[in-house]
Amino acid sequence: LSEQEAFNIEYWLLEEAKLQRMPKPKSLAGRVALVTGGAGGIGQAVARQLLREGACVMLTDIDTEALAAAQKDLVKSFGADSVATVQADITGEAAVETIIAATSLRFGGLDILVSNAGIASAAPLEDTSLEVWQRNQSILVTGYFLVSRAAFRLMKQQKTGGSMVFVASKNGLVASAGASAYCTAKAAEIHLARCIALEGASEGIRVNVVNPDAVIRGSRIWDGKWKEERAASNKIEADDVEEFYRKRSMLKLGVLPEDIAEAVYFLASDKAAKSTGNILNVDAGNAAAFTR
Ligand code: NAD
Repeated sequence: LSEQEAFNIEYWLLEEAKLQRMPKPKSLAGRVALVTGGAGGIGQAVARQLLREGACVMLTDIDTEALAAAQKDLVKSFGADSVATVQADITGEAAVETIIAATSLRFGGLDILVSNAGIASAAPLEDTSLEVWQRNQSILVTGYFLVSRAAFRLMKQQKTGGSMVFVASKNGLVASAGASAYCTAKAAEIHLARCIALEGASEGIRVNVVNPDAVIRGSRIWDGKWKEERAASNKIEADDVEEFYRKRSMLKLGVLPEDIAEAVYFLASDKAAKSTGNILNVDAGNAAAFTR
């Protein structure tokens, strides 16, 4: 190498090292996200992921205490400027208008909606009461409709597009014994996402779905009665449920809230700019093949 060439290389290496040390711009900086069911296991994991990527996040949930605890936790990690909460029931039309208005007022708009609030219920068809059936429809279908309609109106008015991600379930694609009310509502949720995707395309609004399989830890649904019910319906002990779900999957892996958060982030961000009306199963392969 000539002296000049050696100098050029050294100079270039130093400049490159300087660039590496510079903080990288965050992919969701300047974006505003709303997460429903934000006090729950998946909701909190999603909020953390979006906050890490620079978004401002409004959490909403029906559970006042759990919501306050979630806010305290997130503010500790990310500061009070980028986290806010509004307590509301997504099945009420006026309550949903309040959620959207509060988000807009606090953060100046809405770019990302993560519709995630939910319940779990299990009972054989003949033991499923009309009340349980209607509760599933009311939260998982009507609630999702109300929140996405209000978000859609705001996004359209802003003229800056937007991204919606529905957290549905593998059981919206594959029937699960003893869960007809839940499975049917989740299937409707998935189809609602596709319908909104079609109407939103011309407005730059993308709508996609993440389908978790049973999240083996860290969700309030799972850590409560649901785990015992799953144990009973599979004729195993509650302590063996995690291992049971791992073993029956194609990848022999259990799904965690953080895995769902990664998928939601991908679909919400510009990395998925050419995806709409799609479903991303985060299920260790369970929807693709029967491996038990
Ligand atoms: P979670 O119970 O930890 O969180 C759900 C949250 O939704 C709770 O905080 C609850 O208070 C809130 N919520 C319920 N009804 C509401 C209403 N009417 N208005 C506002 N908030 C309401 O459970 P999770 O696992 O984090 O569930 C998140 C989503 O993932 C749900 O839609 C659920 O159906 C779906 N999902 C979960 C699993 C799993 O195994 N945990 C599997 C597949 C799909």
